[in-house]
Amino acid sequence: MLKQLSIYIHYPFCEAKCGYCDFNSHVQANIDHQKFLEGYCLELDYFVKQIGRRKIKTIFFGGGTPSLMPEFLLAGILEKINQVFEVDKNCEITLEANPSSVEINKFANFKKIGINRLSLGIQALNADDLKFLERVHDYNQAIKAIEVCQKNFDNFSFDLIYARPKQTMKSWLEELNFALQFNPKHLSLYQLTIEKGTKFFSQYQQKKFTLPDENLASELYLATSQVMQEHGFINYEVSNYAQKNFQSQHNLAYWQSLEYLGIGAGAHSRVVYQNEKNRRAVMMIHQPNLWLKKVFEQQNAIQTNEVIEQKILIEEILLMGLRLQQGIEIKDFEKLTQQNFYEVLDKKMLEKLQDKGLIIIEDQRFRIPQNKWLILNLIIAKIIC
Ligand code: SF4
Repeated sequence: MLKQLSIYIHYPFCEAKCGYCDFNSHVQANIDHQKFLEGYCLELDYFVKQIGRRKIKTIFFGGGTPSLMPEFLLAGILEKINQVFEVDKNCEITLEANPSSVEINKFANFKKIGINRLSLGIQALNADDLKFLERVHDYNQAIKAIEVCQKNFDNFSFDLIYARPKQTMKSWLEELNFALQFNPKHLSLYQLTIEKGTKFFSQYQQKKFTLPDENLASELYLATSQVMQEHGFINYEVSNYAQKNFQSQHNLAYWQSLEYLGIGAGAHSRVVYQNEKNRRAVMMIHQPNLWLKKVFEQQNAIQTNEVIEQKILIEEILLMGLRLQQGIEIKDFEKLTQQNFYEVLDKKMLEKLQDKGLIIIEDQRFRIPQNKWLILNLIIAKIIC
């Protein structure tokens, strides 16, 4: 039986750079998409030789703005994946899309090409905040994008960013309730964070804007979770909400520490090579044109490729898995680490955390209760130490 795999394809270009963005995204006037198609295909050919033929459970086109990709590029990559791997008949194939008018007109074609899940970068349903976030789309385009998406896709998600400057509980809950009227199957709701190296980082330091204080941010988080659950959504991960059976299978693969292959500039992989036992962390060159040049020179643009040390592997499994409502299945943990759960984690420390109600170990699962998610990182740090 073929081993399972998820595939991430990174498209590194955007129309403009948003002030808060720290993703590997670039603005470039002339992009030779035919060359990029050849680059993606070369890298897929290279990795199939390293990891062997696999059964593909999920494919995710992320970015950047992959909805800017011409249809021939998307179709060409999917054709290549089908050629070198075995794609599961229920494979979830997601594309991140932005709501600009050019992209909205492509939604129906995305479906024809084989995309079966769209993830929309709406970010705000408020005209002023879309401007503040420096999004290319406006409020009307956001609404139009959701409506066109609804017509074409049963399975779609959109992202909203909250805890924005001047945002009150009342205004956020109104916006969230409005978003829910579109009946999305999945919502990703993130708090605005200011990352080093972004335009917002220097503006924030210069006090050009302020963010809601920690108390309000916590209250916004708790209220968000409550509203979503009242509407029948499962808060299956700290910031992600899904109707039953509409959890993002691709993101679950990350959180469950399953194997994934990242293709394209700056993409990351966690894979086990053929004839090897240990998992590798592979990272591709970030700069898109350098990535392309290297791929043509040597069939891959690997920047780093290391076997993951046991200690790091354990930390990764805990950091990712404990973000899930269901936590980590102990037998999965033992399969991934090849070690007994209680050999790896100190039993006394676990008992202490259990007594304080900070973790729950039951039904062969290990999790952090939802009412402690506000201090999730602190709890994980205690477990890892
Ligand atoms: S559209 Fe997304 S990836 Fe592109 S700059 Fe904005 S936040 Fe970053």
